[in-house]
Formats: sequence, C-alpha cells, structure tokens
Amino acid sequence: KRSLVWFRRDLRHVDHAALHEALTSSRQVYCAFIFDKDILERLPAEDRRVEFIHGCVTELDAALRAAGGALIVRHARGPDAIAQLARELQVDAVFAGRDYEPAACRRDLEAERALRADGRQLRLVKDQVLFEIDEVLSQAGKPFSVFTPYKNAWMKQLELAGHAAHAAPYDTVSHFRKLAPPPAGEGIPSLAALGFRPTNLASLQLKPGMSGADALVDDFLPRIGRYDVARDFPAVKGPSYLSTHLRFGTVSVRRLAGLALEAMRTPGNAKGAATWLSELIWREFYFMILHHSPHVAERAFKPEYDGIRWESGDVAEELFQAWCNGRTGYPLVDAAMLQLNQTGYMHNRLRMVTASFLTKDLGIDWRWGERYFAEKLNDFDLAANNGGWQWASSSGCDAQPYFRIFNPVTQSEKFDAEGKFIRRYLPMLGKLPVKKVHAPWLASGAELEAAGVSLGVDYPRPVVAHDEARERTLKRYAVVKKVR
Ligand code: FAD
Repeated sequence: KRSLVWFRRDLRHVDHAALHEALTSSRQVYCAFIFDKDILERLPAEDRRVEFIHGCVTELDAALRAAGGALIVRHARGPDAIAQLARELQVDAVFAGRDYEPAACRRDLEAERALRADGRQLRLVKDQVLFEIDEVLSQAGKPFSVFTPYKNAWMKQLELAGHAAHAAPYDTVSHFRKLAPPPAGEGIPSLAALGFRPTNLASLQLKPGMSGADALVDDFLPRIGRYDVARDFPAVKGPSYLSTHLRFGTVSVRRLAGLALEAMRTPGNAKGAATWLSELIWREFYFMILHHSPHVAERAFKPEYDGIRWESGDVAEELFQAWCNGRTGYPLVDAAMLQLNQTGYMHNRLRMVTASFLTKDLGIDWRWGERYFAEKLNDFDLAANNGGWQWASSSGCDAQPYFRIFNPVTQSEKFDAEGKFIRRYLPMLGKLPVKKVHAPWLASGAELEAAGVSLGVDYPRPVVAHDEARERTLKRYAVVKKVR
C-alpha cells in the first residue's frame, strides 16, 4: 500500500497523527504541502503568515529529507492538486489532520469526492486537539456552551484516557524508512513565485518551523509557574507566544498539554501551569463551539444580540479607521493596535481591551473588528478570533456580561501601571509623567509642554468620552434585556 500525507496546519514531522497513521498502515509514504491558490489569492502581497508558512515548509522538507523522504510542494488549488498528485503517485489513500473551519471542511469534502471518483480514500485523523469536537459532551450528550463545565469534563476525560493515549508515538528508524523520496524535478516555489514579497517577519521574535517553536517552548517552561500572574501585563514576558506555532502545527498540542501536566506536578509551578493548560482548553472549546454552532461565523451566538443597532455611516467609518490606525487618543488602545500592525501579534489582555473599546466605546459592530484582526493576526484562527470577539461584545457563549464595560484608562493603570508598554509603541508620550501617560488629555498645559507633546498634533485627543460612550452602550444593549 502506498499513501500520501497532506500537510496543512500541522507543519512538523514529529508527534504527527496523520504521518503516524500513514507510516503505520502503508509500505511507502509520500508527503505533500499545497500552497492553496484559493487561500493565497485573497491575501495582500505582503503577508507575514505566508512568509512564516514558507519558512516552516522549507524546514519541514529539510527534516523529511534527513529522514529519507521529502516534501512535495505545489502551488495550485488544494483539492485539485491533491487528487492530481494522488493519481501521479498511484497512492491508495491520502491522510490529513482534521480541520474544523467551515472553509476547510468544504475543501476536504471536495478533495474527498475527487479522490473517491478515482477509487481512493481521504482519511482525516485527529491531530490539532486532544479531544475531538464531539468527544467532550455533557451528561445529556449535548455540546457545552459554558467553559467551566466543559473544562471539568475535558480534564476528567483526560484522566480517564491518560495523556499518553493521545500521543502519536513514532519510531524514528523503522517508521521513517518507509518515507518515499520525491519524484524528480520537485522543488519549493520561492515566495516571489507564489506572488508574495518579504515582510518584516525576519526582524520579529517569531522564527518559523519546529526549531522556532522549540525555542519558544524552552524559553517559556522556566516561566510557566508565574504564568497565572504575569500573563496579564503586556510589558512583561508573561505568555508563551506560541499561538502562531499552534496555529500552523509546528509543535503538537499533545506535547504542550503533556508539558503543562508535568509542570502541574512540580511544586511552585502548579498554579501557573494549570492556568496555561486552561488556555489550551479554551482553544478546543472554541473549535467545538464553531463546529456545533456554525452560525457564529456570521451572527451572534446568542440570537437576541443580533437585534443590536451598531453605529454606521461616515462617522462610524472614521472612528473605525482611527481604531485600526492606533489614533483613538486612548494610549493603551493605540499602543495595542500599533503592536498588531507592526508585528502581527497582540497581547491577550489588549485584545480584550481593544475589542471592548471598538464595540462598547465606539459602538461599532464586532464583525468589523473581527475582520481586521483576521487580516492582521499571525495567529489568526477563525474559532478563537470569533470566540474572543463575541466574548468582548457580550454576544458569545459564556461571554463578558454586556453591562461590564472596560474603562480603557483604568485598564491601562492596572495592567501597564508604569506605562512601559505604551511608551514602547508611542514614544511621543515618553516624557509625560506616569500618571498622565494613561490619559494625556488630563495633563496640564505645563506637563504637556515639558514633555514636548502638542495634543491634537503629536498625539490625538480622545475620539470619544468614555463615560458618555458607556451610557450610549447601555442603551444600545437594552434591546437584549427586552428580549429576555
Ligand atoms: P498563551 O497565553 O501562552 O496561551 C497559550 C495558547 O492557548 C495560545 O497560544 C492559544 O493557542 C491558546 N489560547 C490562549 N487564550 C486563548 C483564548 N482566549 N481562546 C482560544 N485559545 C486561546 N487566539 C488565537 O490563537 N487566534 C486568534 O485569532 C485569536 N483572536 C483573539 C481575538 C480576541 C478579541 C481575543 C480577546 C482573543 C483572541 N485570541 C486568539 C486568544 C488569545 O488572545 C491568544 O491566543 C493569545 O494572546 C496568544 O498568545 P500566546 O500564544 O502568548 O498565549
């Protein structure tokens, strides 16, 4: 039997479920990655994610070559290219990791049909989660819509099954012997050949590939015990920064969950590691929600929130542009948006603050913000992004209650007390006294002059007054109460 492993968001060769299955059940295994035209054609010519993936694919090819195989890389429509390749290589089956995004499900269905027409199989296996979307259900067999009971059931299931049961073990020597070298003439198309230009990725602390993921894991593990406290402060190295690697599967989530569980048994690390494991569970929670409630991709999880009337017209457009460009006059919000624009990353606390600001201070539809994040985030993931936006706009499952409205100034005073993060992205505010850096409009004329800041020139005045915006939001959301 011959088979083909179709790599997608699982750009590694170790602890890889589809590769493991293929190697176990076949005599000869080919590996392929398709730069999918359906996806690439919609992206701007400079996209950090494409460059990141290109780096990952190059490293994966080298790793597979060292093990006796190689990666066949093509630039075409995914389903067509896979069916064509399966024909060329005369394989019996194609193996791939299961994906839960609606567009990916449609792509896989199309590939399955094309393969089946030729008498071949598409075998999708669980890889990017510990528990499949229907493996953790309530006692009544229903999907959960609240996180804590989901998490408890998830942990219980893990205890029952044992973490090892979820690993995809591999025996390097005997397994990899079955890898087939690529047909002659195959190479990796350059970024330019794919129609893309280099971005500033090389200057960021986000190295592609399994080696990039390993470096971040090594950096994070000694800090995992402090994660529960440090993760909320954007100026501090608190989180793992692994999200883009998790998104593209350069590290397996099983391995990360295993490391968290191990750390939970170490005194001093237990709380931090447990909190971090919880975040990995949130990731699976949102995959599960998207699968069972696919309407969330377009509409509110809670239908009554579809009745909210968001701001529209030129003023809303202008406010939205100010938000996108980091020109709202609220330093923490602006610094966060500049972090996103300049690096493709935004700290989790700031994602909550900026999303809350857009929906509850500017009164703008969460879908506008969701779309902007989807364009910019290196770690963009439909399920997590949608979950995050619906949480902030209160329309999601287990979301922030609508009447809880973040005050962007107090958030700033609490989570960036010394204004370190703000100053990193807004150097023009660098000389303001700490107390005023969170709200420059409260600085006296003398303070502004001493700091060399001319409000409205060097840095904008606030585009809205938070207290007034808060009142408008409570009225806007009143429609939700009426439905109840
Ligand atoms: P860590 O704190 O080290 O967490 C470890 C991992 O857990 C992350 O890498 C991620 O895979 C997962 N994770 C953490 N928090 C969440 C969460 N709330 N929901 C789901 N998974 C989580 N995360 C994305 O991966 N892609 C997105 O597109 C995305 N969009 C978001 C939009 C909004 C409005 C909000 C509020 C959150 C969003 N998140 C998203 C979740 C979270 O902000 C990021 O996962 C996190 O900031 C990534 O940094 P890290 O890898 O250092 O995380």
